[in-house]
Amino acid sequence: MTTSSGEKRRTPRRPRTALVVGGGVAGLTAARDLAAAGLRVTLVEASDHFGGAVGAHEVAGLVLDSGAESFATRSTAVPELLDELGLADRVVTPDPAGSWLYLPEGAIPAPRSGVLGIPADPSDPELRVPLGRAGAARARLDRVLPAAVGAGERTVGGLVRARMGQRVVDRLVSPFVSGVYSTHPDRLDVDAVAPGLRSRLRELGSLGAAAGALREATPAGSNVAGLDGGMNLLSERLVHDAERLGVKLVTRYDVIALDRDPRRPGWMVIQRQPTDGDKTAVARGELLVMATDGPTAVRLMGSHMQDAQNYTPRSGPRIALATLVLDCPALDPAPRGTGLLVSEDVRDVRAKALTHASAKWKWVAREAGEHRHVLRLSYGRATPRRAGPSPEVALEDKHLIALALGDASTLLGVPIAPEQLVGADVVRWHAALPRTDPGHSARVTGFRRALKEIPDAAAVGAWLSGTGLAAVVADTRKQVRALLEHHGYEVAAPPGGAGTGSQ
Ligand SMILES: Cc1cc2nc3c(=O)[nH]c(=O)nc-3n(C[C@H](O)[C@H](O)[C@H](O)COP(=O)(O)OP(=O)(O)OC[C@H]3O[C@@H](n4cnc5c(N)ncnc54)[C@H](O)[C@@H]3O)c2cc1C
Repeated sequence: MTTSSGEKRRTPRRPRTALVVGGGVAGLTAARDLAAAGLRVTLVEASDHFGGAVGAHEVAGLVLDSGAESFATRSTAVPELLDELGLADRVVTPDPAGSWLYLPEGAIPAPRSGVLGIPADPSDPELRVPLGRAGAARARLDRVLPAAVGAGERTVGGLVRARMGQRVVDRLVSPFVSGVYSTHPDRLDVDAVAPGLRSRLRELGSLGAAAGALREATPAGSNVAGLDGGMNLLSERLVHDAERLGVKLVTRYDVIALDRDPRRPGWMVIQRQPTDGDKTAVARGELLVMATDGPTAVRLMGSHMQDAQNYTPRSGPRIALATLVLDCPALDPAPRGTGLLVSEDVRDVRAKALTHASAKWKWVAREAGEHRHVLRLSYGRATPRRAGPSPEVALEDKHLIALALGDASTLLGVPIAPEQLVGADVVRWHAALPRTDPGHSARVTGFRRALKEIPDAAAVGAWLSGTGLAAVVADTRKQVRALLEHHGYEVAAPPGGAGTGSQ
């Protein structure tokens, strides 16, 4: 390049290598996009497999999703990625039967809702069943209260309580929030999971209208979709495609330290001493993408950032998923649709949600065969009083499976004998869901602002984008694109919508 004064200035060399830490969907997507732009990429993952919360397990000969089983269709980010990976023809929608709620009085079909279980129309007569006359009347007040009421509330619970009353929190919102986020509405940062909800409330004057507006922003039809064969195919295909693009994929590489490379520009990471006697190795890259959970990302990046301790998110909740495969013709009519969310006031059931996977997904029913059913029960309910894990997640597998059998029978209203169990498995998740407690969105904003001071690094993952594949994929590609463009790479048109917030 020649400057106006005629002197020759050397164009700075573009970085040619990148290091990605964390091999969940965020890390795999980042590695693939970096490699597609022409960089030599190394991805290091602590566990022995890739995909993080999107993986598979085998139960009674069936390959099923061990974590995420669907994606939100409100943004085009996941469908576009699936298209690129040759998985578009596998996209399927769940059975339209819908889900149910399990309340202390019993099971009822879940009322239509906007987002987070918040009713879009508080005057809908079907709300009389879960809320009762007084509760429904209180919910309707939302329409007449001044827009300022509740607008300053930071938690989902606080906001809904102020606008629609406690009954809506307990009976509609809490089962949803507990089922999806494994926390209580009073511990959930509203801006982190439903960005725009408070501003729409100020604009439209009612929380119901605001929740309805956010819901309408999603395409018509089902608001989630899945893959024939399971969402685990996404992780599998991302790994194959990353390999095709030359990404060096390393498992069992638990990063314990991150530093500036003393020998060249860029970064180096050091792994925990492997237990099998292998030597530790150093991995390097001129560009860095952190794609771990939040506490790990902040711990590793802390010494390179200003005031990192202010941004440290809390560790995510512990969840245990019990999958049961049953020979049970009584479940053929799918008595509770695609599954149930459980109110925390219920005393006779400990699960927080049940998915009737073989009723929800045709491909699961096809693979399972006649009269064979797949149920997935999730444990790890949080309450406003208890911050720690719920006692069920600490149960041994065999005890949790026995509990799940009893819970399934109660929830589905069908007697299920232990002899009907063909196979079962328990999957435990520790840091896979971020804890989006009050202040989370402010911590994320602070972290991202501080990260701008480090132009050769980016951070991605659910703790920053919001839980759910739609949010994670859209945000990861946006951050990686910005990193590449900053370093002189031209990247194709932006993929996906800017989905953030809930799944
Ligand atoms: C049980 C469950 C069900 C879900 N269901 C759905 C659903 O149906 N639909 C939906 O849209 N979303 C769902 N989600 C959420 C969704 O799966 C996640 O938001 C998304 O997969 C997160 O991806 P990620 O890459 O950010 O994080 P993760 O998948 O958690 O990946 C982070 C990776 O970083 C690795 N790592 C951590 N520390 C280190 C270290 N020090 N060194 C190296 N590697 C490290 C971890 O081992 C992990 O593989 C579900 C989540 C869970 C847990």
